[in-house]
Amino acid sequence: MTRLSTHDAIVIGAGPAGTSVALTLARRGWAVAIVEKSAFPRRKVCGEYISASNLALLDRLEIGDAWRTNAGPEIRRVGLFSGETCVEAAMPRAGAGPRGKDSFGRALGRDILDSLLLQAARSAGVEIFQPCRAVAIEPDGEMQRVRIQAGDEAAMLRAPVIVAAHGSWEPGPLPSQLGKANRPSDLLGFKAHFTGSSLAPDLMPLLAFPGGYGGMVSADHGRLSISCCIRRDMLARLRKQYGPKQRSHVSAADAVSRHLLNSCRGVRDALEPALLDGPWLAAGPIRPGIRSCYEGDIFRVGNAAGESHPVIAEGISMALQSGWLLACELECAPSGRAGREAAARRYEAAWKRLFSTRVYAAAAVAGIALRPGSATLMAAIVRNFPQALTLGAQLSGKTKPVPGFV
Ligand SMILES: Cc1cc2nc3c(=O)[nH]c(=O)nc-3n(C[C@H](O)[C@H](O)[C@H](O)COP(=O)(O)OP(=O)(O)OC[C@H]3O[C@@H](n4cnc5c(N)ncnc54)[C@H](O)[C@@H]3O)c2cc1C
Repeated sequence: MTRLSTHDAIVIGAGPAGTSVALTLARRGWAVAIVEKSAFPRRKVCGEYISASNLALLDRLEIGDAWRTNAGPEIRRVGLFSGETCVEAAMPRAGAGPRGKDSFGRALGRDILDSLLLQAARSAGVEIFQPCRAVAIEPDGEMQRVRIQAGDEAAMLRAPVIVAAHGSWEPGPLPSQLGKANRPSDLLGFKAHFTGSSLAPDLMPLLAFPGGYGGMVSADHGRLSISCCIRRDMLARLRKQYGPKQRSHVSAADAVSRHLLNSCRGVRDALEPALLDGPWLAAGPIRPGIRSCYEGDIFRVGNAAGESHPVIAEGISMALQSGWLLACELECAPSGRAGREAAARRYEAAWKRLFSTRVYAAAAVAGIALRPGSATLMAAIVRNFPQALTLGAQLSGKTKPVPGFV
């Protein structure tokens, strides 16, 4: 063991949830460490769209201007591409931001967004251990120890407050990590960037296809971000179906990409002139649902606390906002276990008030999209009632202000 250092809080994971809580606490004078297993910049399975309701928070985190400079065009229309159907409707406008603009969300690659947030955390004084994996959390009197590992090197960090911000898609040894899942109904996530697409720059269509759902959006620097979730059993069938003369399997990414092109005319049209920019990425299975915000004296933020089906593209918002909510509660909590438990109760109540509706709304939409044959039904409903898309975007929290920024 090479070293033991003590902080006020240790945050495990430098996605938007981890950096949001770490940055906010550090700006309020806390000594914070972040442990992140991947080197940045790194691409990530994600549609990369962020609702306008987050802009005031991004400003408070002091990356608002960099986000505005880098992000793709404003998304003013929401759509549905399914089979031959391509329908669109207005995206609801979020309340104008502090500068009288910022009414519409935009997309920024996670390679850029997560690096901007981590750089801001570094500037705020957060000590960053990267690439470095947290492999154990152990009690240590009034504190807890986090064992971290980088290759063969190990070290111990110690703090009274531990925050799990490691997401939910990978199993692992930490008590806050979820167990392994392997069911036919599991949803696996895929994502790719393309350049030169012909998708209208202000349109974000939902993709509904047999066995899954997804989305497309114009992101930064002319990149199109396409991402989707597909059932494990459907993916296995497709890999066999698209294998050369069905004798062997094609790669999962190939099968997904061919399925998307074959199932949605809108995807074929948008990608016809486009070039793949980097490899397809895969992740999952995803784990939608509401979990505990605090268990075994470990706080959880972002996907670790709860996750909506990505069909509503609200995971980054929930990650940023839950990190902020937790930091606000921790900042005014008395020290000691009783103080942490009281902060946890207030944080959990605030989490549920802000996010429960969108988790349930997303589950309902995903349930419809995933039912066999219902992509056709969904397309028929939306063709006759396109305003359903606008309503869906509203229910999914796209216009819901963040407490403390109204
Ligand atoms: C197909 C798809 C499309 C999506 N599209 C959108 C979208 O358009 N908009 C949107 O808002 N959301 C979208 N989401 C959801 C969004 O990606 C997640 O909700 C969001 O990334 C959660 O952020 P987080 O900070 O909780 O976790 P993550 O972003 O997963 O970050 C966790 C971090 O922890 C690190 N880590 C993990 N384990 C350890 C460990 N043991 N030690 C150290 N570090 C560790 C990881 O390397 C990672 O950097 C999509 C999801 C999918 C699957």
